[in-house]
Amino acid sequence: MSTPNPNHEKFMRRAIEMSRRGSLEYSTGGVFGAVLVKDGKIVSEGMNRVVASHDPTWHAEMETIRLACITLQSFKLPGCTLYTSAEPCPMCMATCYWAGIEQVFYAATVEDAFEYGNFDDRPIYEQLALPKEQRSIIRGHVCRTRNQLYPDPRSQPQSWCRVGNHVASHRSLLNTDG
Ligand SMILES: [Zn+2]
Repeated sequence: MSTPNPNHEKFMRRAIEMSRRGSLEYSTGGVFGAVLVKDGKIVSEGMNRVVASHDPTWHAEMETIRLACITLQSFKLPGCTLYTSAEPCPMCMATCYWAGIEQVFYAATVEDAFEYGNFDDRPIYEQLALPKEQRSIIRGHVCRTRNQLYPDPRSQPQSWCRVGNHVASHRSLLNTDG
């Protein structure tokens, strides 16, 4: 944990207020809110909008980080602290790493969110802790050769995707002539 900060509670109360707004006032999603702080000031705020946006990634932390990046015009957030009403899920925690956020403080734990809100992140944490071959989502290598991964930029752009058990290029998906 970091050194004591007298504003911790103030920022956390704001994150909790954002969670209340999202869930009770605007009904945008689950009861989760967040704020991002730099140099003692709130840079951005966010709430969960998963339900209203039909977007499983629209967590309060994601919204807060995206808005902070836009505000600060940077995809890295050094010197920033995230306050979130509940312990971040693996997606949001990974995003904190990507953004270089230095500190994360949360109120409710993963266990609290399950007990009081029926939100259960535990299976995801458990999945990620398993060896790759034991995880429930099927995964495997497709088109791993260098030329397929890093095609000659002078050639026609072509990217690859996996749809179920089928592999197709975006070009073939879009081109009915085959
Ligand atoms: Zn999350």
